[in-house]
Amino acid sequence: MTAKVRCECGKFQAEVIDVKASTAGRAVCYCDDCQSFLHHIGRAELLDQNGGTEVIPTFPSAIKFMAGREQLRCTRLSPKGLYRFSTVCCKTPVANLMLGAPWAGLSPHLYNFGEVGFVERNFGQVKSRIMAKFAHGEPPKDASQKMGLRDIVFVAPFLLKGLILGKKSPSPFFEADGQTPIVTPEVISLEVRKDIRKKISAPLGKQ
Ligand SMILES: [Zn+2]
Ligand SMILES: [Zn+2]
Repeated sequence: MTAKVRCECGKFQAEVIDVKASTAGRAVCYCDDCQSFLHHIGRAELLDQNGGTEVIPTFPSAIKFMAGREQLRCTRLSPKGLYRFSTVCCKTPVANLMLGAPWAGLSPHLYNFGEVGFVERNFGQVKSRIMAKFAHGEPPKDASQKMGLRDIVFVAPFLLKGLILGKKSPSPFFEADGQTPIVTPEVISLEVRKDIRKKISAPLGKQ
């Protein structure tokens, strides 16, 4: 099945080819960087009640842009940070990407904006919750402080399959060289990053 994904306003549209075989399922990351990113793009309300960001690991080569490529914006929280894409039109988080890995952490909102409840119906429960040391309040009991065995069991087979089958490219988020993002990344300065950190009120001393 090919699944349709889109930003909230619909200007950016894409497809995920063979969605079941191209994705790992639902995961939540509570880390300060994921929280900072949603604050930075002005969508902190998309964080869950514990400050978690949900992603669906997806093979980059399974993602096809259908419309609105020019709406994409790229942010890095540091010069070596992940490439985090969102839309300019309606500030929808799109995906985070790692160079050299068959990984696009696609935002589940992209599915649900097209069809409410799509993610729950097609992906079931969240299978992995990581970096709970940055979570607010009481995250679900199965969350790992950093990353546990359960989380490795969740993601390792996906990454291995992607590496063996060469699913990291072509990636629509990078030029043909596989290295250059299609939009010039904005690298956030340390000062700005510190300001955002204050907003996320990550417990002091836990960074
Ligand atoms: Zn939009
Ligand atoms: Zn994170």
